[in-house]
Amino acid sequence: MRKMARVWNLDTQPYTEEYRGQTITIEPEKFIVMDPNEAALFLKAFTPVIKDGRGQYINPKKLRMELYTDKTASSPKRESKFQCMVDGEIFPTQRAYDEHVLKKHMNEIVDKESKEAFEVSQGDL
Ligand SMILES: [Zn+2]
Repeated sequence: MRKMARVWNLDTQPYTEEYRGQTITIEPEKFIVMDPNEAALFLKAFTPVIKDGRGQYINPKKLRMELYTDKTASSPKRESKFQCMVDGEIFPTQRAYDEHVLKKHMNEIVDKESKEAFEVSQGDL
């Protein structure tokens, strides 16, 4: 699990800012996902305040940071290992796992499935 941050734009206008050489745009009442540290820096970053003729802020920073835990962020780590159900061997990739199963267990699997299929067909009689 990994801590993540949503940076919400609470305004009714899209929010755009040049941040570290990148143009970041957040649509009205939408959020972007950032690293929490990055989000904190982004919210603190200096923004030039622009006022119109009536003294109204043209580009107010109506942003809010929401922290959350991304449960899916850790799953790639888990999925990067493929464990053989038969002998418990672990493989770094799906491909390596598939090759292992084809080489070592294909006969067992085929035998088991055809045996089960046979038993089912026997049971129907
Ligand atoms: Zn195996």
